[in-house]
Amino acid sequence: MKKYNIIFYDCVDSTNLEAKRNSQMEDRTVFTAVTQTGGRGRLGRKWFSDENGLWMSVLLKPDISPAQCSFVTLVAGLAVCGVIENSGIKWPNDIVLGSKKVCGILTEMSSSAEKLNYIVCGIGINLNNESFPDELSNIATSLYLETGGKTDREMFLNRFLSEFEFYYSRFVENGFSCLADEYRKKCITLGKDVTIIRGDNSYPAIAVDINENGELIVETENGTETVLSGEVSVRGIFGYV
Ligand code: ADP
Repeated sequence: MKKYNIIFYDCVDSTNLEAKRNSQMEDRTVFTAVTQTGGRGRLGRKWFSDENGLWMSVLLKPDISPAQCSFVTLVAGLAVCGVIENSGIKWPNDIVLGSKKVCGILTEMSSSAEKLNYIVCGIGINLNNESFPDELSNIATSLYLETGGKTDREMFLNRFLSEFEFYYSRFVENGFSCLADEYRKKCITLGKDVTIIRGDNSYPAIAVDINENGELIVETENGTETVLSGEVSVRGIFGYV
């Protein structure tokens, strides 16, 4: 397996920000912290990161176009699913266990028009939380809450990196299409009635497929629509999943 250089911090504002501040470092450097004071989700949302989780960001410098960057979120999702038995992927960037979110993924990049400088893929996994703040208790879960066992952070990290390398190297060599079938199998969003939330606008749809570009295909009352990751949130009609 290619070598991952892992840097451990006690506390940072956000491992993604720390990775970006150190983007001159080599490909496959991992920034991990026991806690984050300003963990972030998509669209400026906050990510709760106390000392019970694994918060890490992987700095990547693949020879791919900026347009392919969003696949890295899907690749990381497959890798987390490879470590957490019975988990599924809520397209595009959450890993679900039971019916709640056990992991979130936030992929960011720096590029010029055609050339990618680097990708930072942030992965946050709730490992040993016995409870969550009230506002998250309907959405979030931890490996401990679902399995009753505590997980060693470093052991999980090593298992994750070996799964990540498996999927990531295939993606970089052959493109996402060779992983698309496996992604579809793990994707719990498919076949579900969902609500597409686009800014202030939301409407019902049925999620029917993931295309070769990793985009979600939905049927709405106005016909078939392609939903790009990053621009919408998908919710089940009765709740988070
Ligand atoms: P979305 O669910 O739309 O994909 P994000 O990927 O941006 O949202 O994740 C941010 C959201 O995740 C927050 O608004 C909050 O609802 C939830 N959240 C925050 N921290 C955690 C956590 N540690 N575990 C699970 N869910 C969390």
